Amino acid sequence: MNKKLILDYKEKIDCEVPMQMETLPLAEEQSFSQWQQEIPKEYFQLSPDEIINRITKLKKNMGNELIILGHHYQREDIIQFADQIGDSYALSVYAANNHSTPNIVFCGVHFMAEAADILSNDEQKIILPNLEAGCSMADMANRPDVSSAWKELTNRFKDQFNIIPITYINSPATLKAFCGQNNGIVCTSSNADKVIKWAFERGDKVFFFPDQHLGRNTSHQLGINDDLISLWDWRRPDIELGGNSEEKIRKSKVILWDGFCSVHQRFTVSQIKEARSQYPRINIVVHPECNADVVKEADAVGSTAFIADYVNNAKDGSIIGVGTEVNLVSRLAKLNPQKQIFCLDSVVCPCSTMYRVHPAYLLWVIESLSNGKVVNQIKVPEKDKAFAKIALERMLEIS
Ligand code: SF4
Repeated sequence: MNKKLILDYKEKIDCEVPMQMETLPLAEEQSFSQWQQEIPKEYFQLSPDEIINRITKLKKNMGNELIILGHHYQREDIIQFADQIGDSYALSVYAANNHSTPNIVFCGVHFMAEAADILSNDEQKIILPNLEAGCSMADMANRPDVSSAWKELTNRFKDQFNIIPITYINSPATLKAFCGQNNGIVCTSSNADKVIKWAFERGDKVFFFPDQHLGRNTSHQLGINDDLISLWDWRRPDIELGGNSEEKIRKSKVILWDGFCSVHQRFTVSQIKEARSQYPRINIVVHPECNADVVKEADAVGSTAFIADYVNNAKDGSIIGVGTEVNLVSRLAKLNPQKQIFCLDSVVCPCSTMYRVHPAYLLWVIESLSNGKVVNQIKVPEKDKAFAKIALERMLEIS
């Protein structure tokens, strides 16, 4: 096993988390001193070799009692322990189909562990190694804000049209429950087109949250142009209809929540132009959480799973500029040495919340499990779980 995964980044780093991929003891990873503090102090000083050896041994001892899921955006020093690697859709499907493993450690962010809890059975325990691994986009929409926008829309346009709520999987369980309760559904970046079509078979308009960009790019893909799209400004509860006129809402097919992913908003049209001028035969693939103008300039757009396939299936000698989280891009570059793969953003920035899952946290949660103690279990309250499950299962049925 590769104990030190040091990736060679030539560019200067200027972002929230350092882009050095060598595993350091927790105490030396500066930003970790501000995050989850509950972990016993002894874990802060463990050397990377000690951590790796202990996790490897525990995994072997626990056998079928434990499975580790790893999202594509996780650090290499976490991915090396993952039994299943995937995007949020693939990992939810896995959780929905695997009802036999009692302990599922989810190396990803909070909403993913919640989705796994909703889809798993009552005996299974879903564990998130660091409770502070969240998602800044998911935090942009909460149940009170969405409910109040929904009330305003449904009261104002009562009997005029039927709106179907859609929540991106990158959202809290309370919003999945909201969709389950209001004839709505969940989508991922792999199936947003099918989900929006599903919604239009049942309603006149779609209310899509939290990511305006996935909503807009998918609407464009389905032939819905910007004239038929409204943007709901949730930061201004003092203004009516999220800043839209009644006429605008009446005309719109899609109403988008003004949320975004800070990682994917880093990609720009000028980066693509620069890459094309440097490598005339380059292909550009980006994630649909990028801006619409970036998507328009790219050769291909798709989920993280789509991007991985795009790169893995490209011919030897291909040059591909990728617009998604850098841990995935670096892994793809490493797995495809006969191709030139690079991240479009030269100031490479990992998803800072995904990065919060450090191997020492992983060791702590597994070691606790093997001692009969469950720490960091993610448990969605029963009142939300049942409705959220309805919305998630609607999605799984049509995908
Ligand atoms: S990459 Fe963006 S959407 Fe994904 S977890 Fe990080 S902040 Fe959230």
